[in-house]
Amino acid sequence: SCPGCFYIEGGIMKKICIDPGHGGRDPGAVSGNVKEKDINLAIAQKLQLLLYNKGYNVIMTREKDIDIGLYQRANIANNFKADIFVSIHNNAFNNELAQGTETLCFSGSLQGEKLANLVQTELVKRLKRPDRGIKSRSDLVVLRYTTMPAILVECAFLTNPVERKLLKINSFQLLAAEGIAEGIDRYFREVE
Ligand code: ZN
Repeated sequence: SCPGCFYIEGGIMKKICIDPGHGGRDPGAVSGNVKEKDINLAIAQKLQLLLYNKGYNVIMTREKDIDIGLYQRANIANNFKADIFVSIHNNAFNNELAQGTETLCFSGSLQGEKLANLVQTELVKRLKRPDRGIKSRSDLVVLRYTTMPAILVECAFLTNPVERKLLKINSFQLLAAEGIAEGIDRYFREVE
């Protein structure tokens, strides 16, 4: 049936902007033969399908391996009048022992913090990696220049050998997408 015919409670179809971090000439974190931009896109595409099937109106800042600026990403979400913005990333650190899941939100955004908390909770439940909690940031362009509640998810560390191995696996990427989707669903059910 037509996805446009699905409406979630309240009669208004919620709009979500998914932002797969990096892309094109910017690979993000690189560890071994794994590039962050590719993992981000793989998780984002799974999330796109899950949200679409739940009846959300979804836009992606990129659907392929292309260059796209940070302000451009924020503009896409703003022009789409998205209800929320979700940027998908994976972490890196110069110590390979660093591991776990964290979610960033814009400092002072109460709704952003609520969304971050719900997504972080559902992600940790599924990925079963250490819970690094949510972090407030005011210096990230995609969180600062988006006009709706915005979060940036760091699913796991590409520089950690165990997590790098997991991030390459389809079913682990799907778990990440499911966690983010459930957090989003809970946000619209419980918070709005
Ligand atoms: Zn990144």
